[in-house]
Amino acid sequence: MQKPMYINGVWQKREEELIVLDPATRDVHYSVPKASVQDVNEAIEAAHQTFHSEAWRSFKPHERGYCLHKVAADLRERLQEFAKAETLDVGKPLKQSEADVEAAARYFEYYAAMADKVLGETIPIEPGILDYTVREPLGVTAHIIPWNYPVQITARSVAAAIAMGNTTVVKPAEQTPSTALLLAESMEKAGIPTGVYHVVTGTGQEAGQALASHPLVRHIAFTGSVKTGSTIMQTAAKQITAVTPELGGKSPQIVFSDCHFEQAVQTVTNAITQNAGQTCSAGSRLIIEASIEERFVEALKANFEKLSIGPGIENYQLGPIITDAQVEQIDGYIERAKADGATIITGGTKQDDYYYLPTIITKIDAGHPIAQEEVFGPVITVHPFKTEEEAIALANGTDYGLVTGIWTNDIGRAHRIAEAAESGQVFINNYGAGGGIQMPFGGYKRSGYGREKGLEALQNYTQLKNVAVSYRQS
Ligand code: NAP
Ligand code: MG
Repeated sequence: MQKPMYINGVWQKREEELIVLDPATRDVHYSVPKASVQDVNEAIEAAHQTFHSEAWRSFKPHERGYCLHKVAADLRERLQEFAKAETLDVGKPLKQSEADVEAAARYFEYYAAMADKVLGETIPIEPGILDYTVREPLGVTAHIIPWNYPVQITARSVAAAIAMGNTTVVKPAEQTPSTALLLAESMEKAGIPTGVYHVVTGTGQEAGQALASHPLVRHIAFTGSVKTGSTIMQTAAKQITAVTPELGGKSPQIVFSDCHFEQAVQTVTNAITQNAGQTCSAGSRLIIEASIEERFVEALKANFEKLSIGPGIENYQLGPIITDAQVEQIDGYIERAKADGATIITGGTKQDDYYYLPTIITKIDAGHPIAQEEVFGPVITVHPFKTEEEAIALANGTDYGLVTGIWTNDIGRAHRIAEAAESGQVFINNYGAGGGIQMPFGGYKRSGYGREKGLEALQNYTQLKNVAVSYRQS
């Protein structure tokens, strides 16, 4: 069955298609059109025309907000339908998908409320001159989405872009196009005008590049790997198109002996096993005070071995790894670590071909590829320290800088480390603060720049105009 893509309010099928598999069985689940460069251009041109249309120009900011609130309501009404589609695409536990759809609804709600509240300034120059700034939309914004959290990541940038008056073209990842397409139905129902939201289902190489290179695209929200991010930025640079790159991470959990032990163990477990470790902000390095290493690793091992493994749709705690290629990538890192003398405390192997056992690795050099690069599986490496300085050096010792977790009851130390952390987010005695729609999120170093989420993201979807008026009498 081919699910059509959505260009200019029309559901469109194509002969050339992309096959979408159910990660839990690797069975063919459905297909989508393989969008050509021409299809992408059609979507961009329609979005451009809509942006300049009288209908969209006269749509008042509060009306945009009103419609986006209705999108949120529709997501909640159809939460099960969205969540099932997400789980069958991504493989994650249904419960997780339900939380993701709720988060998507929250993004629409949050940015809906901001549609008529982004203000300019007046700037003092001299008597007789009025100087003011206006925040204006950019035009067509492109949204290139990864496969691990599709509905949330689509919602967070599209909601902000539309709230600010832009028109949008979304390219979901090949493996996970369902919820971006379902969202088109919600947009229609909510009264978002035709031409404001398009979905092109294609490959990164073809459809993604067509988006990144089109002169009418004014901003690209990209979430994905460092390598692809860099390619897109290079392509976009030719047109001077702005890019907000939200890239990968190798986030440390720094645990001191004075922490709340049980809470730390449970959260460290969740942060590396959520979505089977296929999470940009996964806490994949345990930086642990040497005096509690043994006890902590024992407790973590017990937690890891308790996790149930199986299809996400049946709500097992650990779902499948998205593709065979991804399983091979995880295996490759583990084999190399083993060959280099690392100790596998638990896991270290796949299960039933599509799953990966939660894995703890000790006695591994902090500079080893498995401790430096994104494994994107339920794999944590353990690095003991004796002093605060050592802990900071280990935590900051990768090219990434997305999130830092700190576990200690020494308030001074917690703040010293938060200050020293080279990452865009820091969590002290928690990890995630319950989802954090309102918190600006993004990277230091190679994790990217610019911020999604929170009010900060509104900067991405507006451009600033300064107007100076002389009212002196001549
Ligand atoms: P990816 O391979 O970089 O792909 C991301 C998106 O870019 C997909 O839609 C992909 O299309 C498209 N793409 C690939 N090559 C392209 C090109 N040359 N030009 C334009 N678009 C192109 O990433 P992924 O494997 O889907 O996701 C995993 C990565 O995302 C990890 O590194 C993870 O850390 C990161 N991530 C970051 C965040 C964050 O907020 N910081 C959140 C989630 C994930 P196709 O795959 O369909 O070809
Ligand atoms: Mg990909």
